Amino acid sequence: MPIHQNGTSFIPGTHRVNALLSFVDWACTPIGSPENWPSELKNALSLILNTHQPMAIWWGKELIHFYNDAYRDLLPASQRDTAFGSPGRTVYSEAWDLIQPQIDFVSSGQGSTWHENQKFTTLESDSTTVERWWTYGYSPIYAGTCVGGILVVCTETTKEQLARIESDKLTHSLAQEVARRTLVETQLRAERVRLDAVLDTLPAGLAIVGYPEGTILYQNPKASELLGMNRLPTNAVQDIEKNYTAIHPDGRPYEADEYPSVMAFQTGRHIGPVDMLYQRGDERIVLSVRSSPVYDPQGRLDQVVTIFDEVTHTREVEKDKLLYRAIASHIPHGAVFLVDSDLRYVLADGPALRNTGLDSMDFEGRHVSEVVGPSDRPILIADYEAMLRGEPVYREHATSGRHFATYGTCIPRPNGPHFALAVSYDITDRLQREARLQLLDTIARATNNAATETEVLFQAAHMLGSFLDAAFCGFAVVRGPRPTYHAWVRHSQQVLTGSLRSAWVESVLAEWGHSAQPVLLRNEELPFEGLLGPGLPRRFSQLILPILIEGSVVACLIIGRQDGTVWSVDDVSLASQVGDGAWAKADRLRLIGQLRQMDLKKDRFLATLAHEIRNPLGAIATGTNLLSLLPSTRDAAVQRAVERIKRQLDLLRRLVDDLTDISRIKHGKIHLQIERFDLREAIEQAVDMQRPLLSKRDHSLEVVLGTEPCYVHADKDRMVQVVGNLLNNAAKYTPQFGAITVEIERHESAVAIHVKDNGIGIEPEAIRSIFEIFVQDDYHAPAMHRDGLGIGLALVKHLAQLQGGEVAVTSAGHGKGSCFTVRLPLVHVG
Ligand code: ADP
Repeated sequence: MPIHQNGTSFIPGTHRVNALLSFVDWACTPIGSPENWPSELKNALSLILNTHQPMAIWWGKELIHFYNDAYRDLLPASQRDTAFGSPGRTVYSEAWDLIQPQIDFVSSGQGSTWHENQKFTTLESDSTTVERWWTYGYSPIYAGTCVGGILVVCTETTKEQLARIESDKLTHSLAQEVARRTLVETQLRAERVRLDAVLDTLPAGLAIVGYPEGTILYQNPKASELLGMNRLPTNAVQDIEKNYTAIHPDGRPYEADEYPSVMAFQTGRHIGPVDMLYQRGDERIVLSVRSSPVYDPQGRLDQVVTIFDEVTHTREVEKDKLLYRAIASHIPHGAVFLVDSDLRYVLADGPALRNTGLDSMDFEGRHVSEVVGPSDRPILIADYEAMLRGEPVYREHATSGRHFATYGTCIPRPNGPHFALAVSYDITDRLQREARLQLLDTIARATNNAATETEVLFQAAHMLGSFLDAAFCGFAVVRGPRPTYHAWVRHSQQVLTGSLRSAWVESVLAEWGHSAQPVLLRNEELPFEGLLGPGLPRRFSQLILPILIEGSVVACLIIGRQDGTVWSVDDVSLASQVGDGAWAKADRLRLIGQLRQMDLKKDRFLATLAHEIRNPLGAIATGTNLLSLLPSTRDAAVQRAVERIKRQLDLLRRLVDDLTDISRIKHGKIHLQIERFDLREAIEQAVDMQRPLLSKRDHSLEVVLGTEPCYVHADKDRMVQVVGNLLNNAAKYTPQFGAITVEIERHESAVAIHVKDNGIGIEPEAIRSIFEIFVQDDYHAPAMHRDGLGIGLALVKHLAQLQGGEVAVTSAGHGKGSCFTVRLPLVHVG
């Protein structure tokens, strides 16, 4: 039973709030003791307290709070009891700003308000804040004509609101999920389109066969194209041999279980890639095939994917590459380049390539323009383009200090575009050999024209030194009292001559005491006394080559370079050839010089002898003439002796005359009486003079001079002498009863005098030198014929030449006679 001690017994009932109503000391509150409460309040209180709908009353100016049980249950636990009878502002301090205007509206008599799902944040007893939603209305309770309080009718809608929020959230995330899925689907669709496009344009054939039926689930257009079919047969695996025509290299068709796709079906494994020969219509192609099984998520074989591509061209290129690589490896000092129609290197190989520090990888796959510098690019490209057009190409060029000769041509290919084939040979060594040979030739020619031995040595040293890029190059004479050198010096481009350091000479001679081998010195002092030039180093790398005469070292060739350089075997060999050759030539010139001196002395001696003999001869001749006139010499024996003396005197005089003539000719002191005369007269005189000798040896003589005069410009006496000498020889060198002919042969501008005999003849070897002075055909002209010195023909030659003519001889050899011919220019009269 409620105890209403405070005058609130006017409200009957057993509501929980009745206790609160009873216990509040209402007298101390602004609304005073319940006895004084207006009836409107009391009526309102009894109304709300007996209602299950949460309801409350705010009464008076302070808005003292009353509420029923249902309302109390909605309040936070901490406020459930304390809020009853408290002023509204203190109860709802957190939300006051929101609700005050609403209360003011109602209090001011403007009417009631209705608020749906208004959110409040309430402080719970455990000091946490909780969000709650309320739907409530404020209605005025009139006390008389004024608004005495406000009736609050409310419902907590927190659950509904939370459910709504949750639902909103769900709806939102659902919408997001839907949007995401839509996007994914769009992407998948696009992906599928792309995949189809990729598969359709895949450069390889693709077929997917379902397991275990063996029917084609998918095929791309390339698959049909490669196999030469409009569509692949649907039953791909059944009767595969009937559907497809793969063959072995020997022409045997594939068995069903040899096909990669069938093998993948049977084994469940990846097969390939394998090369298959395939008969496509009339042509036989090579396919590279691989088949792969595809398993479903449960691990069961589901499909077999087969990818294949035509590699006929690739395999041919690979075969070609093997062939050309093999060729390349067998070309000594060579390299082979194969370039395709896009000017890309398909192959580059060979020993010459490696010699330049490059290998195949520097070329293969690259465009020709990538492997050379910009300056060589246009030439290289033009060359390869010409080769691809089928034009043969030859070029010499240099790379990395080596020289190459390249021959290029086109390699036609039946199944693809042409290739350009270039074969290069390293010709560096050949060029060097040629350069060395050319140098030897140039030195030989230059030194052939040299007049003195020193000139020969200088020329050779200069040319060799320049060629070998030496600082100096020269010859040192190491034997003899004063060792000297003749050297060419690069710095001054001059030749130096001077003394050699004696210590150096001793050391090289000591070295060559053991064996005369080339000496190589590094950074050694100069062998020369003095310097090569101001500011030049004294030390050089030196190559010293001994020059031997009859086994002993007489001189050496010295070549010096700045230190650090090395001498190659070729350098040494070239230097020794030049050294030996030049020294031999210089030696020959030295000997020739000596011989000339001796020849000169001999000529002088003979001239003096002839001169000295001429006077006594004159005296002897006069004496002999007198003797023959004396009566006491009428005795026949004395007369014969005198005649013999006269003949010998004639002979002697002729010899002396010939010697004197030769000496005069040599010294240019002979004087000719040139006149125009009929050559026949001179020949007749000569014949008359030689007649005694001819008849003495019982030779027949035929003289054919023609009827026409034959004019020449010459010295008549000398021509008598020339023809006389030839006739004299013909008589001498023809055995008894020989036949001799003298004949004139006229030509347009010359006349030839032939003196012909059928005598002992002349050997071919003797013919070349027969006109030289003191030469006699020792073998064939027996000593008994010798009454001369071998001067006559030399005189004939010189005299013919002095008169603008020439002399020649022909003979078929020993015992076959001779024919001497003198030619003179003919003078036309009138
Ligand atoms: P020589 O008669 O005094 O020996 P020549 O100069 O006249 O000198 O001749 C040189 C050499 O040529 C002769 O010794 C001889 O061997 C050869 N000769 C010259 N004329 C004839 C000839 N008609 N037939 C064969 N040999 C000849």
